[in-house]
Amino acid sequence: MPDGDRGTYHAPMGTDCLFCRIVAGEIPATIVRETATTLAFRDIDPKAPVHVLVIPKEHYADVATLAEADPGLAGEVLATAAVVAEEEGLTGDGFRLMFNTGPHAGQEVFHAHAHLLGGAPLGPMLCR
Ligand code: 5GP
Ligand code: ZN
Repeated sequence: MPDGDRGTYHAPMGTDCLFCRIVAGEIPATIVRETATTLAFRDIDPKAPVHVLVIPKEHYADVATLAEADPGLAGEVLATAAVVAEEEGLTGDGFRLMFNTGPHAGQEVFHAHAHLLGGAPLGPMLCR
């Protein structure tokens, strides 16, 4: 799908949210799947052979805020992640799906996003 050709959504005027700007087509991204309410695109700095970010198009700061405000939309993010995992060939060997939330998790972009990681053994869940 060509960048910048994703319907009529526009980031709110003055938004400085990176992922809202990707949704609006104002910043390019490699989109792998789009639904009416979600977008999946490749991470710019992949940590695994497959590293896709799955977001709600609507802005929520993190997954907790999203889940409280709109559990149905949170489910749609999970459903999109599952379809992308299938399309990326990850369902046989498995994958990791994670939402960094807040400072202890090192969240850097404050627009809720799932990291879909796979394509090779991912190692232990946490490095200490
Ligand atoms: P967080 O640390 O907030 O959980 O994850 C943010 C992710 O966004 C990081 O993995 C980072 O590589 C990715 N990222 C940051 N800027 C961009 C960008 O401009 N485009 C894309 N596709 N990914 C980005
Ligand atoms: Zn946003």
